[in-house]
Amino acid sequence: MNTVKYRSLKHLLGFILVLSSFLVIGDFESAFPKVNLTSRHITAAQKSGEQLHLILGNPSHATRSETNPNNYLVVKEQYVLSYNRDNGGPNWVSWHVVKTDLGRGRSGNFAVDKALPESWWVFPNVYLNTAYDRGQMCSPSDRNSDPVDNRATFLMSNVLPQRPDLNRGPWRKFEEYSRDLVVNGNYELYVIAGGSGSEGSIANQVNVPSRFWKVILILPDGDNDLNRIDKNTRVLAVDMPNQQGIGQQNWTKYLTSVDKLEELSGYDFLSNLPEKIQKVIEARDYSVVTHRK
Ligand code: MN
Ligand code: MN
Repeated sequence: MNTVKYRSLKHLLGFILVLSSFLVIGDFESAFPKVNLTSRHITAAQKSGEQLHLILGNPSHATRSETNPNNYLVVKEQYVLSYNRDNGGPNWVSWHVVKTDLGRGRSGNFAVDKALPESWWVFPNVYLNTAYDRGQMCSPSDRNSDPVDNRATFLMSNVLPQRPDLNRGPWRKFEEYSRDLVVNGNYELYVIAGGSGSEGSIANQVNVPSRFWKVILILPDGDNDLNRIDKNTRVLAVDMPNQQGIGQQNWTKYLTSVDKLEELSGYDFLSNLPEKIQKVIEARDYSVVTHRK
């Protein structure tokens, strides 16, 4: 009788042990799914990236089709861009900035963007010994609370050739002004930046834009962004020459309107906003008024 009891207890314990190990393994598997992790990750990122960084619209109607190589949509968690194969860089880069994106880290080495077809790759060293900086459109300082996010800004699909006096002068000052809005003004931003025109090329591979432009839509930090934008929402637009000798200039010197940037670039910015709102906020030209945050 005692032996039988002991044996069944032993079996029961063994059964519990086996069962619990299955449960533990099951738990582990669901926390770190082995199956197809990479593609699952990319799909989720593409969805969130597009919903986050492109809610104001796709300025050039870029698509994911490789048969559209000069207006090729690349969606990342950190930013979204339209790539131009023939120009060897982005047409535009679009990204959202909130306080939690900002920090102090900097981890980047410039790298090829392997999200692009291999024959389109631009290698970082193409820029070496040229008159140009590797000008990151989505600034590494807009993505430095996380090392992975920061590294993404060093991908060459986020880079265009900028003269050092532009990149380290008024362009940077405008970047710093916009981050100050986020850090000290409790705003969140939607930013779109790119280059227009041509003043030659680097190694016949990378077009050198003659102008660089940027649009920043400024909202008090909050939820439901698209529905909060109205005719009073502040939008800053700048248009800067890709030149030496402007390093000491203030960014405010280059203020313009979104309408003028649409004319310059051929893109439709803020196209997901109602036409009535676009009409008002895109016509506003801050170069003719004094503004304070
Ligand atoms: Mn820069
Ligand atoms: Mn528009």
